[in-house]
Amino acid sequence: ARNIARSYELNRHIWGNASVVHAVSDVTLSVGRNETLGIVGESGSGKSTTGRLLLGLEPPTRGAISFDGRPLPVIGSPEWRKSRMRMQMIYQDPLAALDRRLPIAKQMREPLDIHQAGSLRERDARVSELLRAVGLSDAVARRYPHELSGGQRQRVVLARALVTRPDLLVCDEPVSALDVSIQAQVVNLLSDLQAELGLAMIFISHDLRVVRQVSHRIAVMYLGRIVEEGEADDLFARPAHPYTRALVSAAPVPGTKLGGRIMLRGEPPNPANQPSGCAFHPRCSAAVARCKSEMPVLAELGGGRKVSCHLAGSPSENQADPSPART
Ligand code: SF4
Ligand code: MG
Repeated sequence: ARNIARSYELNRHIWGNASVVHAVSDVTLSVGRNETLGIVGESGSGKSTTGRLLLGLEPPTRGAISFDGRPLPVIGSPEWRKSRMRMQMIYQDPLAALDRRLPIAKQMREPLDIHQAGSLRERDARVSELLRAVGLSDAVARRYPHELSGGQRQRVVLARALVTRPDLLVCDEPVSALDVSIQAQVVNLLSDLQAELGLAMIFISHDLRVVRQVSHRIAVMYLGRIVEEGEADDLFARPAHPYTRALVSAAPVPGTKLGGRIMLRGEPPNPANQPSGCAFHPRCSAAVARCKSEMPVLAELGGGRKVSCHLAGSPSENQADPSPART
């Protein structure tokens, strides 16, 4: 995805005029086979919108998205339906994703039934194979969603997503609705399947700890923009953006030395009301005067790291700043 953006028009009845919400701005991302890209950020940071844009579930207002070297087909076209088989999405709430009235086998088989892929027996065999792959027994095939636990349901959703042998799997908060004790199991399962099947995976979560467990690379989003991106372990070891530092300090892992938790000040982001300059400045403890007026660009620091912060550039650049006074 190159420089993609998505804005929505909000009708504000109080003011009587429409305002535009920039949910995602100028996002460039890529994910390859055998790779998991984590996208982390608070709610309202544009993570989910980015996921839907990447899958072509909604069109970008600007920018271009390609899949397998080709532009994403127009939404609703026959090519789009075909490409949808190769890209699957998993959401937070497995119960909402499943049809309560149908037994598991029937809903897992659905894409195969539509395309008459093999005999009924072959389709059922595929369902059993996938249920086992996600650690469930064949018996689950005859059950209904309400007869399963939350963890089992999310495994079913995952198995169903794999029925069409996708190349890309986008998981949006896939374990956030699960008990903490179950979360690790499902995260490990996702990780194993990604490696086993060579999937390209995008893992979206507000929980940096969970993202770290599965991701090779991580992109940190704030108010619709990527503020930092890097190789997962490296990002944790030396977060360069003040926002990433705050997130990492709130989710410490062995080997991270940051000297205590950095608290985020002020309000969580509101995409309808973006601050001037660096959108993070009202909450940034490192902010300098120019942060209020000048938006930093996402610059390459080398080693696959990209950071969008006035203070993360070359040191000479920082010294050239005539107004280093804290705001
Ligand atoms: Fe903080 Fe300024 Fe960097 Fe933004 S540009 S993260 S406000 S120091
Ligand atoms: Mg979301």
